[in-house]
Amino acid sequence: MKKIAIVGGGVAGLSAAIYALRSGAEVTIFEQFGLGGLASTIDKIENFPSYASVEGWKLCSDMAAQAKALGLKTVRQRVLSLERSDGGFAVVTDKARYDFPAVVVATGTSHNKLGIEGDYVGHGVSYCATCDGAFFRGKPVAVAGGGRTAVSEATYLADICSEVYVVTPQPNFSAEDKAVQALLAHSNVTPLFNTALYEIFGDGEVEAVGLFENGQSRRLTVSALFVATGAAPVTDFVRVEGVKTNRGYLVVDGRCETSVKGLFAAGDVTDGSLKQIVTACADGAKAGSFAAAFSATVK
Ligand SMILES: Cc1cc2nc3c(=O)[nH]c(=O)nc-3n(C[C@H](O)[C@H](O)[C@H](O)COP(=O)(O)OP(=O)(O)OC[C@H]3O[C@@H](n4cnc5c(N)ncnc54)[C@H](O)[C@@H]3O)c2cc1C
Repeated sequence: MKKIAIVGGGVAGLSAAIYALRSGAEVTIFEQFGLGGLASTIDKIENFPSYASVEGWKLCSDMAAQAKALGLKTVRQRVLSLERSDGGFAVVTDKARYDFPAVVVATGTSHNKLGIEGDYVGHGVSYCATCDGAFFRGKPVAVAGGGRTAVSEATYLADICSEVYVVTPQPNFSAEDKAVQALLAHSNVTPLFNTALYEIFGDGEVEAVGLFENGQSRRLTVSALFVATGAAPVTDFVRVEGVKTNRGYLVVDGRCETSVKGLFAAGDVTDGSLKQIVTACADGAKAGSFAAAFSATVK
């Protein structure tokens, strides 16, 4: 019997489940919260093929229903550790230990927070310019951060928004010269170096941010704040020797298999370049199919 575990029930994990279940595998998803992950919290998704616009919860609940109808088993527990075991891998939660010949890790990332976002997330505060930039077309926005992600997010926004203020406590951008030049070629971009963001103002929606620079505080009127201070892959529970990572992200091959046989990964937790729902689903399809095929070879 083919049998696999998937850790993480976001769109990558659910897609892996659908493909593995359809290939005849018995599939258990370990998810600490509800199925759907990050995508289920997005108000409007406008770049998932076949929907001009769909609410995140709707897309995810349809995906979860499809997997459940195929026989998905769900264990609503946080995985504390993933280890090698005689039969393959042990998935350890605070309640029990489960053994599987093959496992897909689909635990996504957790965004570095500024600590001032409060209830403005989804109301002008965003962690994804590609996803939410279009909602602020023609409006002034701020980007928090000065690294590679912030430079790339700000460059994307510069073509959409009226003004883009890039706020960083650093004296310079820490990104490739070419990327910085491409950003600064936009006349509507203003870098604010040596500047800290200390507060968000607005009546339910972002209307301004508080800046602290040269010993002075001031308000900057913006309609959105894009936080681009980095995100960290959720892999702290992976305790399997020999797993290769790149800046903490799990390195996978064209079949979404990691450097350890039988251990697969999909979605935002991998070192793939575009972190979107469609790419997470594509990864899931590969990881689920090949994990199921691998599990069938284990005696
Ligand atoms: C604000 C915002 C807006 C976005 N908008 C869009 C958009 O419009 N279009 C688009 O294509 N993409 C968008 N994205 C990106 C998209 O949401 C992600 O690329 C995608 O959801 C990643 O899916 P995933 O399954 O890899 O990870 P996630 O959705 O992060 O799922 C990971 C799951 O693993 C679970 N988990 C983590 N650790 C454990 C553990 N130890 N034990 C058990 N469970 C665990 C989590 O609870 C979570 O459910 C947006 C992202 C953000 C932040």
